[in-house]
Amino acid sequence: MQRLGTTALLLALLAACRLHAAAPAAEDGRAGAPAADAAAFDAAFEQSLREGLGGTPAEAAPLIARLRALVPDGDRFRQRRFEAATCSAPRADRREALRHAETLLAAERAEAAPDPTNLALLYLCRGIYRPGNSEPGLVLADYDLAVEQARESGNTLLLGTLLSARAGAQSMNGAFGRALSDALEAQRLLEALGEDALNAIVLQNAGIAYRRMGEYGQAEEYLLRSLAHPEIQGNWVYRLITLLQLGYLFEETDRFADARRVIGEALELCTANESRSDCGYARLALASVETRAGAPQRALDVLSQAEADFEASGDPGDPSMVALIRGQALARLGRAQEALPLLDAAIAAWEAESNARYLALALPERSRLYERLGRDREALADLRRFVDVHEQDFRQRSAQRTEFMREQFDASRREIENAELRAREAARLKEISALETARRWQGVALVLGGLLLLVLAGLMTRQLARMRRLRLLALTDPLTGLANRRQTEYRGAEAFRLARASGQPFSVLAIDIDHFKRVNDTFGHAVGDVVLQRVGRECQRTLRRLDLMGRIGGEEFCGLLPETSNEAALQVAGRLRAGVEALDLGDVAPGLRVTVSVGVAQARATDADFAAVLARADAALYRAKQEGRNRVVSDETT
Ligand code: GH3
Ligand code: MG
Ligand code: MG
Repeated sequence: MQRLGTTALLLALLAACRLHAAAPAAEDGRAGAPAADAAAFDAAFEQSLREGLGGTPAEAAPLIARLRALVPDGDRFRQRRFEAATCSAPRADRREALRHAETLLAAERAEAAPDPTNLALLYLCRGIYRPGNSEPGLVLADYDLAVEQARESGNTLLLGTLLSARAGAQSMNGAFGRALSDALEAQRLLEALGEDALNAIVLQNAGIAYRRMGEYGQAEEYLLRSLAHPEIQGNWVYRLITLLQLGYLFEETDRFADARRVIGEALELCTANESRSDCGYARLALASVETRAGAPQRALDVLSQAEADFEASGDPGDPSMVALIRGQALARLGRAQEALPLLDAAIAAWEAESNARYLALALPERSRLYERLGRDREALADLRRFVDVHEQDFRQRSAQRTEFMREQFDASRREIENAELRAREAARLKEISALETARRWQGVALVLGGLLLLVLAGLMTRQLARMRRLRLLALTDPLTGLANRRQTEYRGAEAFRLARASGQPFSVLAIDIDHFKRVNDTFGHAVGDVVLQRVGRECQRTLRRLDLMGRIGGEEFCGLLPETSNEAALQVAGRLRAGVEALDLGDVAPGLRVTVSVGVAQARATDADFAAVLARADAALYRAKQEGRNRVVSDETT
């Protein structure tokens, strides 16, 4: 995957080299040059930038020589332009190229009036030729400087292209939010110029960033548009990236037929170009789709091919992901004993690297396996761990989100501050130009604000979708760690059937926190949540191992007590009520105390199902509320 990212960046950079750099209208050093020569240089220069300087040093050499020959004698401005524009041309010796960039940069900065276009090109050049293992921060800092100078230059094409290049670099570093901001701004600028060729990279980057944020509609639109683009049509690596991204998107949105189709196209590409490692990743994606689409046998076949691909290419691939998908497929084929060690291996590897995201995929799967094998305790342990890693994953993501938003705010604040500084400085020289500068930066602040809103909206939508999915998926209530309503009803029905078959008694507790609205209203919802957790834990503590406590509503809990008569259940309920009343919540909010009311009902021969027992417990609870709360009422007392 790293390779795909690098290729995308290189393409972005190639595009970045094809700039037009219109020379400023008046510039010292040009005045003495013969007019005809100057025009010839400008034309050749522009052409060379539009068409690039070739892919290899050998291809670049004649183009550079031709341009050099056209620099008019004694025209210092065009000499500098020439150096800046050819700085990032392909070179054999990267270390030498980096030194060259540094020298040119120092010279340009020493000029009485450094040219922003030249500076932008030179910062870009230095960023490109920094060693591959250098800190990403250093490379990004060069892109930042280049973008800043491009803004200064007022050359929209230069700016759009550099923003697009920076989007690629940020995307590679996992900074998708920032990448998206850049990509969208670049798209706006380039579209206004009708610069079609450069747009392909922007479209793809925006599509990838949107997908990772869960904005699937937008992601699909951008990816499809980039796929239709001639520049992407003409480059197989680029097409492969887009096709795989579409494949992930379709899988994540359960459109399996579409996913199979695009991954199939990706496979044709990597096969035709004999790239086994790319084929390995494509087949891995396909196997995952087949499993989710309910074709586990096909998934197993594809997985074996993926392993053969990795083997042949020398790329280690992703063994843990292979193990997870194979385990899932075997589980769906009913081969639980074979699936278990595979899931164990994947989970152990991800535990070792604390990969909460992948653990959250694998743990529920293994829990289901344990359940099927009758190993209930281990199934429950996995579910508990699942709740933990989900929380951890959530925390990590919100930390990233906070970090990203701070970056956005910092960036806009920094730019506004810079603008103010510059404006003040200029005001000393020229009042009118200072006003213009300030207005321009106000525009930038507005654009950044708009982008921020857009990104926030995206994040919120994604968060809502995640929470919906989580609720559906888990058997556990994420707040309290107790069984959720679905699970409680399921286990209640089971206990009801068992009791019926064995003739043993079975009792149900309906528990509701008293005046809970007041807790929320007085101390806030966050405190309310902590209270729910503490009460939940207390309720759980009162029960035996055989029993089950579930959270079946906002502040409503339900206890299932198998092999327990009405009298015994009343005692349990009494202990539970007293336990909650005695809870010390002073650390949550000063002076905070809560109580619960409990309704008790024992299953009867006349009850049709579990729901009937629960309804009678609820009726008893209602009476407990009416009789003054903080008490236990059995539905058998009249
Ligand atoms: P009563 O003694 O009659 O039960 O009074 P009450 O205020 O507890 O009753 P009601 O059912 O009207 O209010 C329940 C409140 O619980 C309303 C809702 O805002 C709050 N609530 C529901 N779910 C949650 C939650 O997850 N967290 C928090 N903090 N509050 C919740
Ligand atoms: Mg209630
Ligand atoms: Mg209540």
